[in-house]
Amino acid sequence: MHEAMHDPNCVFCKIVRGEIPSRKAYEDDLVLAFHDIHPIAPVHLLIVPKTHVATLADAQAGHEPALGRMMGVAARLAAEQGSPDGFRMIVNTGRVGRQEVMHVHAHIVGGNEPLGAMLPRPKQ
Ligand code: AMP
Repeated sequence: MHEAMHDPNCVFCKIVRGEIPSRKAYEDDLVLAFHDIHPIAPVHLLIVPKTHVATLADAQAGHEPALGRMMGVAARLAAEQGSPDGFRMIVNTGRVGRQEVMHVHAHIVGGNEPLGAMLPRPKQ
């Protein structure tokens, strides 16, 4: 990977580069998938582009192949990892999206049973 394509202070760049460990679920030329360290569902994976992009709001046209691959591999990965009958893909983005790790990532959450509601409905 070209030096400019990673951020030396980014935890997910470090995982991509093998500098810190992860439970890897899938890897190809554009993306890496690994298990979330604090799972919120029986299946909880993260899929990240190998190139550093802080948020979806920073993504450029050149990132589209990796972003597309993230969606393209999601269903197969979810099924392989124990969520064969659907799943939820979430990309928290920026302050409003409460993104904590500033490297684009899609959460894949699922399992055998339906998940809770996506967000609680505001009280009327
Ligand atoms: P977000 O709020 O969308 O930025 O979520 C970041 C996610 O990254 C959280 O679900 C964390 O549990 C997860 N996470 C943070 N550090 C690691 C790590 N080293 N390995 C795996 N998952 C991590």
